[in-house]
Amino acid sequence: MNIKPIIILAFLISLSLTNVVVSARLFPNVSSWLNAHAPTGGAWDAFLNFTGCHRGDKYDGLANLKSYFERFGYFPHAPPSSNFSDEFDDALESAIKTYQKNFNLNVTGVLDDATVQQIVLPRCGVADIINGTTTMNAAKENETASFSKPKFHTVAHFTLFPGMPRWPEGTQELTYAFFPGNGLSDAVKGVFAAAFARWAEVTSLKFRETASYFGADIRIGFFSGDHGDGEPFDGSLGTLAHAFSPTNGRFHLDAAEDWVVSGDVTRSALPTAVDLESVAVHEIGHLLGLGHSSVEEAVMFPTISSRKKKVVLARDDIEGIQFLYGSNPNFNGSTATSAPERDASDGGRCLTCVGPSSGVFALLTFAFLF
Ligand SMILES: [Zn+2]
Ligand SMILES: [Zn+2]
Repeated sequence: MNIKPIIILAFLISLSLTNVVVSARLFPNVSSWLNAHAPTGGAWDAFLNFTGCHRGDKYDGLANLKSYFERFGYFPHAPPSSNFSDEFDDALESAIKTYQKNFNLNVTGVLDDATVQQIVLPRCGVADIINGTTTMNAAKENETASFSKPKFHTVAHFTLFPGMPRWPEGTQELTYAFFPGNGLSDAVKGVFAAAFARWAEVTSLKFRETASYFGADIRIGFFSGDHGDGEPFDGSLGTLAHAFSPTNGRFHLDAAEDWVVSGDVTRSALPTAVDLESVAVHEIGHLLGLGHSSVEEAVMFPTISSRKKKVVLARDDIEGIQFLYGSNPNFNGSTATSAPERDASDGGRCLTCVGPSSGVFALLTFAFLF
């Protein structure tokens, strides 16, 4: 027997295992915590030290807060080959004001307690402002100011990505698959199935798991740190997950989180416990074309506290997804009557949108049509 091929084979297997296997911290239920498991704290806890800081002073480490705001679209990129300064400058004050508008906080431009407490919450890695354009509260308020007298009382808060990307007209079913290297259990896969079902309930879209990872429309995986898409994960809490707009299909979760698969996450003993289904429902919204919403009850709100469950689509989420894909004829939710009138031939897309640059204006105009 020739032993050489066996050695080579064993080497290749071990190589592929070390490169591919990513062990996510998945807890089948909340009772499986080990008492010795100590919380590691949030990735942004150091920002709590900036409470009370204001324009005109310099604070050690403030550059890191600028990086945070840059990451989520609030702060201009640092000039090439230079770093952010620790100065509390006009640009930072402006970023804070926009952030405060988007998160329904008092617009002071100061790092008051409520603002800092919001900043350090775990959140989605997708930016609130993309290509310098915010469609959350801040932009809506500015746009509202240009109208002397809004004709309608109800304003939509859901947002779409620039250019309003969606899955193609006529799409009835999207397939999804799990990164094979994660080796996820059926219980974990079932959580994602439940999350997809919440969006399927209110639209005519269907979702089906497939074994073909690279052939699937939506590809789900748990990864740690830098995983090759320029959006590295940051360990416990901080950013929890991110997903790409249609029709990219990539859905990544931070393997370092303490993901709760089942049970009452609100009663878990672990301060860093994160509800998997809640995050999955949110990220699927991105995969289908929704951006972040300023409505705190909406699943598309950017932050979610640890030990919190939020899986039920709010009226704002439903209005957003039905704007893109139309409603499910079998869905009798209360929002059906408030959904916009739409021409069946355009699949629910906004007729006034002609290109990426007009997307935001079209959305804001649309807000007055409810
Ligand atoms: Zn998000
Ligand atoms: Zn990623």
